[in-house]
Amino acid sequence: MNNNGTICRVESKDVYVVDDKYRREIRCSLRGKFKKEFNLKKDKLFQTDIVVVGDRIIFSHNADGTGVIHTIQKRRNYLSRKAPRIKGASYRGERLEQIIASNIDNFFIISSFAEPGFNNKAIDRFLVTGESSRLNTAIVINKIDLDEDDEIMPWFQLYEEIGYKVVTTSAKMKIGIGNLHLLMKGKTNLFWGHSGVGKSSLLNALYPNLDLSIGEISEATQKGKHKTVTVTMIEPEEGTFIIDTPGIREIDPYGIRKEDLSHYFLEFKKFIPLCKYNSCTHNHEPECGVINAVISGGISKIRYESYLRILDTIEDDLYF
Ligand code: GDP
Ligand code: ZN
Repeated sequence: MNNNGTICRVESKDVYVVDDKYRREIRCSLRGKFKKEFNLKKDKLFQTDIVVVGDRIIFSHNADGTGVIHTIQKRRNYLSRKAPRIKGASYRGERLEQIIASNIDNFFIISSFAEPGFNNKAIDRFLVTGESSRLNTAIVINKIDLDEDDEIMPWFQLYEEIGYKVVTTSAKMKIGIGNLHLLMKGKTNLFWGHSGVGKSSLLNALYPNLDLSIGEISEATQKGKHKTVTVTMIEPEEGTFIIDTPGIREIDPYGIRKEDLSHYFLEFKKFIPLCKYNSCTHNHEPECGVINAVISGGISKIRYESYLRILDTIEDDLYF
């Protein structure tokens, strides 16, 4: 009999699936044909995995309680990054695409006001990744209890004016948790942020009655405790899913060309048509609409600096 389910965890050969109907976790394997197809296409394919967390699949049961996946549904969307460098790998190997998760309704960039300090450069990098994956992206600024002088306000305004939803929270003092919960309810939510910003604390504040799986997540988040940390999807309340990404710290957007980067800085968009050259990268070209907007105040200097910094890292890459 065929069953529908969603991938909630992948551990080397074992793929864990949550059954749509019974909401149970079942250990599955992939039909051999997927591996064959994957290997055949390997030279053309630039992706590292066959299935990822969030994938919708169809599986059947084995007699021993495990399952076999025989259909992988098309992904509605996905978040990916450049696969991490593998020591000794060929140059080509370094530019594979690693899909973190798929079928995402909300991509929450989790940051903190302090400890670690607010890092707008990192946020901008996450935003580019979210935009290039066409995800609905929002920013959470945690540890707002440490912000006694409302120093976060200019940042809040900057990102809200661009069009991003910004939620300020304190997991510790239970501030903003209700707002965050409202945005998450009934959706599949991906949490991504540097370690220490309070991701686990937020999850605990959001769902105080969470079962064991949260404990495992927070444990896995502590550096050094677990060697293998994996992307995991949990369902803390019916119909609401959270994809946690412990251990995934570096985020290099995949497959972005120099001349396309500015499209992922949403507020640059209206100035791009004013550039003299079609292929303008907005860093040195004369009569550049973006640079003019930075000078006249239409674009924030600080966002433009982020842009230049990311542009710099793309320059080292091969073209796709
Ligand atoms: P994670 O690595 O992102 O999962 O972060 P944790 O949830 O483990 O939190 C890291 C540290 O920040 C812990 O010492 C928490 O107690 C602390 N922390 C988390 N949220 C807050 C907050 O809202 N305010 C303050 N002041 N500290 C917090
Ligand atoms: Zn330009």
